[in-house]
Amino acid sequence: MKNPEGTSVFFNQKSNLKFNPFIKNLPVYQPGRPIEEVARELGLPADSIIKLASNENPFGPSPLAQAAMQKAIAGVNLYPDGNAFYLKQKLAAKLGVEPANLILGNGSNEIIEFIGHALLGGGGATADVVVSQYCFAVYPIVTALFGANLITVPAKNYGHDLLAMLRAITPRTRIIFVANPNNPTGTLASREEVIRFINDVPDDVLLVMDEAYIDFCDDPLDLVPLVRKGTKPNLILMRTFSKIYGLAGLRIGYGIGQPEFVAVLEKIRQPFNINLLAQTAAMAALDDAEHVRRTRQNNFAGLKFFEQAFRNLKLEFVPSAANFILVHVGKGRKVFEALQKQGVIVRPMDGYQLPEWIRITVGTPQENERCLGVLKAVLNKK
Ligand code: PMP
Repeated sequence: MKNPEGTSVFFNQKSNLKFNPFIKNLPVYQPGRPIEEVARELGLPADSIIKLASNENPFGPSPLAQAAMQKAIAGVNLYPDGNAFYLKQKLAAKLGVEPANLILGNGSNEIIEFIGHALLGGGGATADVVVSQYCFAVYPIVTALFGANLITVPAKNYGHDLLAMLRAITPRTRIIFVANPNNPTGTLASREEVIRFINDVPDDVLLVMDEAYIDFCDDPLDLVPLVRKGTKPNLILMRTFSKIYGLAGLRIGYGIGQPEFVAVLEKIRQPFNINLLAQTAAMAALDDAEHVRRTRQNNFAGLKFFEQAFRNLKLEFVPSAANFILVHVGKGRKVFEALQKQGVIVRPMDGYQLPEWIRITVGTPQENERCLGVLKAVLNKK
């Protein structure tokens, strides 16, 4: 493993440190490229670049959240409420659960790591984790971090094959991760499939239903009642403020599970993992139904726009239930680089074993038009 200067970060000959051996082969998450970095590299002004690479909200944060943060800034000399009492109260009321059902994370990514500590820590080498091909990259990373064995089940039409995932469970399996809708494919498993699947997952396996993109779905299956009733103690739902709420830069997400399981995760959580501005903004964002509505509507229109355009251009795409779309362009990394030169950042998919595809986040109508125009030029299509 090399750092950008090309020197070894781990296991260099000079070091006698006794590193965790699991870190040696740990894959490194490749995020979407930040606008500032691309601007510097290309010598372009930052405001001439658009980023459609990380499934962020193209309308920015809710104005209510921005105003609330302005007010809260003067208080950041103090630690935040380590239990996020008011935010949990508000979120619990909105979801119809108890605050004890909620665990807050520094992004839902952190909850994935809590889950790793809770179920894989200390004995990872004898544990299996079941995921789907084309799953969200952080699941394999956390699995590797704890030295557990990853079982990757082949996808069906780019989506999860839930029956095959059930069959892949072994006596060593401790966790099964399902993102619905899935990132990076945007696929959504049907209601019937999901309900049957949840019923059939053995009760000694934690089922993580990652619902980061659920707010973009039309009439989604609501799994919160299952948690409310407490009939599935091995189920945890994960959600985030990074997507439809437009607060990705603040890092805040949450899990909804049984109080007993949440209490275990609370032991792992650092006391101030949700900063003051994040708590403040999240509470205000929950009140901004108009911002959510506008974002969702823009997303439906944007998906339609891209789907129609790809049909016209005879480009294969995966129909999406999320705020991004996967499209087949041939040499994905080359196309990504060519788009970037024109100031449009998308996500290459070679890291997901989809080297012929790129993933485009739905932007504003103007951003979508610009992205499509540049893509047509790059692909030499009219
Ligand atoms: N789950 C999925 C499926 C995601 O795509 C993402 C964001 N890329 C996350 C979880 C994590 O989001 P965050 O940490 O910003 O809440």
